[in-house]
Amino acid sequence: MTQLYVLDAGVLISTWTDKKIDSTFITTPGIIEEVRNRMSRFRAETLFLLEKMDERTPGVVEVKRVESVATSTGDHSVLSTNDIDLIALALTVINEGTKVTLVSTDFAVLNTASRLDIPIVDPNQKFKQRITWGMRCPACYYKSKTATRDTDCPVCGTVMRRTPLRKRKQS
Ligand SMILES: [Zn+2]
Repeated sequence: MTQLYVLDAGVLISTWTDKKIDSTFITTPGIIEEVRNRMSRFRAETLFLLEKMDERTPGVVEVKRVESVATSTGDHSVLSTNDIDLIALALTVINEGTKVTLVSTDFAVLNTASRLDIPIVDPNQKFKQRITWGMRCPACYYKSKTATRDTDCPVCGTVMRRTPLRKRKQS
């Protein structure tokens, strides 16, 4: 049986797929569009890959599940709709009983997927630990467990930044 990979946009425009000749790839329509929009920077191989790749829309239930987990990991504010759909697509395929690996270089994508027990590959091998994100005020160091974008500190009004609350080694 050939290995099935769910590919992120960053992986599609890299050379990672060159060594995976016998594999099958899928991605979401949104990622295909994202890659097509960056067309001028593409390698010819990528164009070929786009043609032979399956595109699928994730299940509604799976999208909701990913959004909920991404909220609890604190990744939701930095994930695009395409990112969420991509993780949800991997989950959809897994729920159908097919073994799949999600390939991405995006830490927020990898972090959320790993929390959902989706097998992941980071071609750059830089993703080492799962992180639960919160927010921290750079001025008065107030900490919030909920990670949202552009939240003013409830104590002093400074714009808070994302900060790791918990880290766990990625096995
Ligand atoms: Zn503050």
